[in-house]
Amino acid sequence: MALVSRISGHLLKRMYPVASSPSRNISFNLNDQQSEILESTRKFTLEEVVPKAAYHDETGEYPWEILQKAFDLGIMNTTIEEEYGGLGLSLLEACIIQEEIGFGCTGIATALGGNSLAESPVILAGSHELKKKYLGRMTEELLMAAYGVTEPHAGSDVASARTSSRKVGDEYVINGGKMWITNCGHANWIFVFTRSDPDPKCPAGKAFTAFVVDADAPGVTVGRKEWNMGQRASDTRGVTFDDVVVPAENVVGEPGGGFKVAMKCFDKTRPTVGAMSLGLARRALDEASKYSLERKTMGKPIVMHQAISFMLAEMAMRYELAKLAVWRSCADYDEGRRNTYYASIGKLYGAIAANRNASDAVQVFGGNGYNKDYPVEKLMRDAKIFQIYEGTDQIQKLIISREHMRNYM
Ligand SMILES: Cc1cc2nc3c(=O)[nH]c(=O)nc-3n(C[C@H](O)[C@H](O)[C@H](O)COP(=O)(O)OP(=O)(O)OC[C@H]3O[C@@H](n4cnc5c(N)ncnc54)[C@H](O)[C@@H]3O)c2cc1C
Repeated sequence: MALVSRISGHLLKRMYPVASSPSRNISFNLNDQQSEILESTRKFTLEEVVPKAAYHDETGEYPWEILQKAFDLGIMNTTIEEEYGGLGLSLLEACIIQEEIGFGCTGIATALGGNSLAESPVILAGSHELKKKYLGRMTEELLMAAYGVTEPHAGSDVASARTSSRKVGDEYVINGGKMWITNCGHANWIFVFTRSDPDPKCPAGKAFTAFVVDADAPGVTVGRKEWNMGQRASDTRGVTFDDVVVPAENVVGEPGGGFKVAMKCFDKTRPTVGAMSLGLARRALDEASKYSLERKTMGKPIVMHQAISFMLAEMAMRYELAKLAVWRSCADYDEGRRNTYYASIGKLYGAIAANRNASDAVQVFGGNGYNKDYPVEKLMRDAKIFQIYEGTDQIQKLIISREHMRNYM
């Protein structure tokens, strides 16, 4: 009995943490700043992203023009602190932006959000000088940055990364290669995760060191643009490091502490990926809803067939539930609570919502849905990556189960 009430107590505490604000009610109301961010990004998406999404999907051309306009509007690099020229937005505000852009095109949202991904470790663990140098420049002009952790043989298993760094005097020398790096072909700098202790017995928490590496440093070679299933506006490449010399001041966090830096970032970056998938899930619902009113079979609009309206209900439900989890993870993060559990739930359920909603939207469109002239075929291709990058579905389940079982051990 005592155990049951202890467990229930933990669960209740997780569901309803003691309010740190004067209000004891849960609020889903956006404040004035948040509403303004939502409205201006929504307008931007409808005017600038939606009309050009198909072109960038078709050609794979990097969306420089859209990124420049997004930069000018102030919706890029949004969580860089004010001290370094940024807006210092909250994670919720960053997620509101990513959802809206994701509604227009998640490939373009990934290109735009790739900067925040690269900036996160520097924001979380970088020295003042490093922030001033590398975050400061991101707020002065449109520049891109990349986050380089994954290697050809090391994705989910981050601790098996082999790219090495060796200290030589006051500098480090990096050798190895990364794969699937977003924005890599256009990056001004790359966050690079390396193994600094070659001893296989060294624990992960001490074996890795992370750096900011200038993309034009001698020895950095960027590979070809990968032609992926979806999100083709985004730039994904491999990159190799051949005796690349990096000054010691470019270490992010402590030497040997790179693994902790990379892991800590996920609490901040997974909600933003979840937010992009919300945008896609809502777009699929929106397209399917409009089409269901226009398309007639057996003498009535298809929405009048219960099979279709129930499908729309399920799509709406998935979007709303994923949004609750993503927003909850943001609220915890922004109020200083550990959000790992909700960040993984939001990321995973967002991916489920995006994939199932995209597939259902194609179903609602029938044969037209399978064709490039209609917008939902792209949604289905774009959605798949949400189950893979920033930690696969399976890795999210490992984390959720581990976090959940903490209550029982
Ligand atoms: C378009 C794109 C953009 C990307 N952008 C970036 C980026 O900017 N920066 C970056 O560093 N990386 C990036 N990635 C890499 C991405 O994060 C990895 O692909 C992802 O983490 C999966 O790793 P993997 O591909 O090596 O698959 P693997 O780790 O080899 O996994 C293969 C399968 O095994 C499953 N699996 C693996 N381990 C376990 C386990 N322990 N238990 C259960 N199942 C398991 C996985 O879920 C998956 O289904 C990107 C990838 C793509 C495709």
